[in-house]
Amino acid sequence: MAKWVLTFGDGRAEGRADMRDLLGGKGANLAEMANIGLPVPPGFTITSDVCTYFYANGKSYPEALDAQVKAGLEHVEKITGRRFGDAQNPLLVSVRSGSRASMPGMMDTILNLGLNDETVEGLAANADDRRFAYDSYRRFIQMYSNVVLGLEHHLFEDLLEQAKDRRGVVEDTELDVEDLGKLVAIYKAKVEKETGSPFPQAPLEQLWGAIGAVFSSWMNPRAITYRRLNAIPESWGTAVNVQAMVFGNMGETSATGVAFTRDPSTGEKTLYGEFLVNAQGEDVVAGIRTPQPITEAARIAGGVAAPSLEMRMPEVFREFVAVAERLERHYGDMQDLEFTVERGKLWMLQARNGKRTTKAALKVAVDLAAEGVLTREQAVLRIDPASLDQLLHPMIDPKAERKVIATGLPASPGAAQGEIVFSSEAAEAAVSGASGRSVILVRVETSPEDIHGMHVAAGILTTRGGMTSHAAVVARGMGKPCVSGAGALRIDEKGGTLTVAGRTYRAGDVITIDGSTGQVLDGPVAMVQPELSGDFNTLMGWADEISRMEVRANAETADDARAAREFGARGIGLCRTEHMFFDEDRIVAVREMILADDEAGRRKALAKLLPYQRSDFRELFRIMQGLPVTIRLLDPPLHEFLPHGDRAIAEVAEAMGVDAEKLKRRAEELHEFNPMLGFRGCRLAIAFPEIAEMQARAIFEAAIEAGRETGAPVHCEVMVPLIVARADFDFVKERIDAVARELEADGASLSYQVGTMIELPRAALRAGEIAESAEFFSFGTNDLTQTALGISRDDAAPFLSHYVAKGLLPADPFTTIDRDGVGELVAIGVERGRATQPKLKLGICGEHGGDPASIAFCEELGLDYVSCSPFRVPIARLAAAQAAIRNAARQKEPAD
Ligand code: ADP
Ligand code: MG
Ligand code: MG
Repeated sequence: MAKWVLTFGDGRAEGRADMRDLLGGKGANLAEMANIGLPVPPGFTITSDVCTYFYANGKSYPEALDAQVKAGLEHVEKITGRRFGDAQNPLLVSVRSGSRASMPGMMDTILNLGLNDETVEGLAANADDRRFAYDSYRRFIQMYSNVVLGLEHHLFEDLLEQAKDRRGVVEDTELDVEDLGKLVAIYKAKVEKETGSPFPQAPLEQLWGAIGAVFSSWMNPRAITYRRLNAIPESWGTAVNVQAMVFGNMGETSATGVAFTRDPSTGEKTLYGEFLVNAQGEDVVAGIRTPQPITEAARIAGGVAAPSLEMRMPEVFREFVAVAERLERHYGDMQDLEFTVERGKLWMLQARNGKRTTKAALKVAVDLAAEGVLTREQAVLRIDPASLDQLLHPMIDPKAERKVIATGLPASPGAAQGEIVFSSEAAEAAVSGASGRSVILVRVETSPEDIHGMHVAAGILTTRGGMTSHAAVVARGMGKPCVSGAGALRIDEKGGTLTVAGRTYRAGDVITIDGSTGQVLDGPVAMVQPELSGDFNTLMGWADEISRMEVRANAETADDARAAREFGARGIGLCRTEHMFFDEDRIVAVREMILADDEAGRRKALAKLLPYQRSDFRELFRIMQGLPVTIRLLDPPLHEFLPHGDRAIAEVAEAMGVDAEKLKRRAEELHEFNPMLGFRGCRLAIAFPEIAEMQARAIFEAAIEAGRETGAPVHCEVMVPLIVARADFDFVKERIDAVARELEADGASLSYQVGTMIELPRAALRAGEIAESAEFFSFGTNDLTQTALGISRDDAAPFLSHYVAKGLLPADPFTTIDRDGVGELVAIGVERGRATQPKLKLGICGEHGGDPASIAFCEELGLDYVSCSPFRVPIARLAAAQAAIRNAARQKEPAD
C-alpha cells in the first residue's frame, strides 16, 4: 500500500534529509533532526505525492490517507501522552506547509490546532495557566480563520487593538486572562457573522480543514508568483507537516526565536538571531514586539537594553549553541534555525540552509573549507554562479557627501538610488515604461504581496521590522539593497508622502539607500563599483584549478578588455569589429566605403579605416598580453551605418559632400526584407574581398607592433562569420592567408589561425569538411538558435514568453541553450569537426557562454572554452568549475 504519511519524533524518523522531494524541505529536516537525536516535537509529514494526487483528482485525497493520518496522530499521542480532542489532556498540533524548495512566507502555518471550548479548559488545567490557554485559543482562531476560512487578518487585528485600547495597554502580553476570554468570544462571534457558521469545534474537522488549506495554498497567487520568479515547477507540490505543539507563550521561562549560525550579511562566524520571551510562532518576524538579540555580544554591539538569551536563559543558550554547531557540521553549511523554549526546555522546530548575501556565501564556503568541514570542490559547488552578480552592485562613493535623512537597519548590502514609490503597482508601472526608471520601494513593512514590486525595485526601504523581517529576508535573497526599520520616517500612503525631520518627500523624489550601513540619503549620490573580496579571489582560484574549460570574454573596446582581464578572462573569444566602426570620425569612412561605386573607391575608403582598426587591435593585443584574441571579420548590418529619414540623410549628404538622392537610393538598396537572413557575415567578404583584406592587414600589422612593444608574442585568431560550407570559408581564408604571406615576405613573423563561426545549421552539418581547412570553431549559438528554431530574436518578444509560460519550451532558448535541438546541432558540429581534426579548438561565443546551464552543456560536449561578456566572466568561471566537477561525477556513475 502506498505510504502517504511518514512519522518522526522520539529520536527516530521514517524520513531523512535527502527525501526533500517527497517530504519537502521542512519535513525532511525535521526527520533528520529527530534521527540525530535533537529535541524535535513529534509529528508526521503528509507527502507531496498527496498534493499531486489532490490536484490530479479534483481536490480529493487518496483513500488510504484517512487511516494513515489517524495512525500518525496515534504515534504523536503515544509519545506525548496526550490525546487529540481530549477534554482533560488535549494534544494540540501545528499544521505547517513545506515544499521541496523553501518558499518563505508563501503558505501560512496554523498553530494550536485542536483547541475548542472544552479542550481550552483542559489545556489551562494541565499548564496550570488559564491566561496561556486563552492566549493560545485566540491565536488559533485568528490563524485558522485567516488561513482556512479566508477571513482578513485585520478583522482580528482590529479587535485585538480594541481590546488593548479598552485596557489602556500597548503589548498583547499585557492582556490578562479575562481580557483574552472575552476576546475569544468576540472572535468567535466575528467568525459566525462573517461566514454564517460557528467556528468549527471538532478537532478532526479543524485538522482536515487545515490540511486542505495547505494543499490549496500551493495554487494561491502569491505562491504562483514566487514559483514563477524562482523557476520552481508547479508539479513539485507541497507536503504538510502535522506536529505536536510546544509553547513559547507559557510565561516568562518560555520563548521563541530564530537564528543563523553565521551572520547572513557578512558570513562572520557568530551566532546571529533574535528571540521574544512569552511569545509564539511568527511573533518574532511579524514586528509586533521588538525582538531581543540572542548573544550578549550582539546585544552590546546593538546597544539594546533588554537582556539577550545568553543572559536570560544561560542553560538554554548553551544547549542551543551546541545544537547549532552540531547542525552546521552535520549539514556542512550555515543553518537558519527556528526554536521554541517551553518552560526552560529547548525544542527545535526548523533547520535549513540559511539564505545569505553572496559576500557571506563566499566567506562561509571558504571558512568551512578552512575548518575542514568542506573540501574545496564542495566549497566551489556551494556558490550559485548567478549570485556573483551581487558583488558587482554599486556602493556609495566613500568620498561622496552623505546627506543622511534617517538610519534604519543594514538589512541587505549594496546601495541603490531611485524615485520613491509607495506601492508595488507604482514600482512596476515606473519600471516598465520606455525610460525604465529606477525606483526605491518605500513601505511600512513588506508582505508577500509585495514580491512583484520588490523584484523590479532597485532597493527597498521599510519603516518597521528587524533584520529577519519579510523585507530583509526577501531582499537578501534577491540580492537587492534594503534598509529596514527606519523608524524616524513617517509614511502617509494615502497622501503619497514620506516625512522626516520636518521635510516631506513625494512619490518621484529621488533618494538613496545604503543597505550596508542602514542609511537613507537625500537625492542621488555618487556610486562606485566594489572591490572584489579576498574570499572571492580564494574561491575563484579554486574554481580555476578545478575547471577544464577556459573562460574568455566578448570584448571590442579597451575598457571591456581591461574589465575582462580584471574578472579573470583567459583571452578574448569574440571581438566584433563592426562595433569598432560607430565612432564619429570613423563612421564617415565607413559610409564612404558603403557608397563607393567601384572597388577603387572602396579601397580608397578602406585605406582611411585601416589605421583606426590597426590601432584598436594593437590596444587589445597589448591589454591581453599574449592571451589569445579572436577577431571576427566584419559582420555588418550595413544599413545601420547609413542615416534614415530625409532630414538625417540631407545632413549627412551635406557633411560628406555627396548627393542626398544618391545617399537615399543607396539606403533604399540596402533595405532588406529580412536582415537577419540577409547581406551579413562572410557574404560581405565574398562580395567585396578587399574589406576582409583590409581587416586582415590591420590585425596582422597590429599583432606585429604589439608583439614588439610588449615582448609577448601575439597569437591571433581570425574568425570568419556565417559560413555555410567549406567553399565559402576557403574563399575568405585564401584572402587572409594572402595578406599574411605578403607581410611575411617582408620579413615579419606571424602566429595566427583562421577559423570560423559555426552558426548556421548547414555549417554544423558540414563540420567534417569545414574542419579540413578551418583551424578552430566557435559556435555562435545566438544565430544558431535563430536559424534552428526559425525565430528572429528581435521579433520574439510577443510570442516566445507564451511558449515558456505554457511549458512548450523548457526555457527561453536565447538565454539557456535548447539542448535537444540547437544543442544537437552543436554536438554534431563537435563530433564531425573532431572526427576530421581531433585537436580542433572549440568554443562558444553566444549569450549562452555566460549562462551556467548552457556552460554545463558545453562541458559535457568537451568544448575548450566559453566566451561571454566581461561582467559575466566570474559567473562563467565558477559555472565552468562546477560543470567540471558534476560532469566528472556523472561519468563515474555506473551506466544502467
Ligand atoms: P514558515 O514556513 O513560515 O517558517 P513554520 O511552519 O516554520 O512556517 O512556522 C512558523 C513558526 O511557527 C515556527 O517558527 C515556530 O515558531 C512556530 N511553530 C510551528 N510549529 C510549531 C510547533 N509544533 N510548536 C511550536 N511552535 C511551532
Ligand atoms: Mg511564515
Ligand atoms: Mg519556519
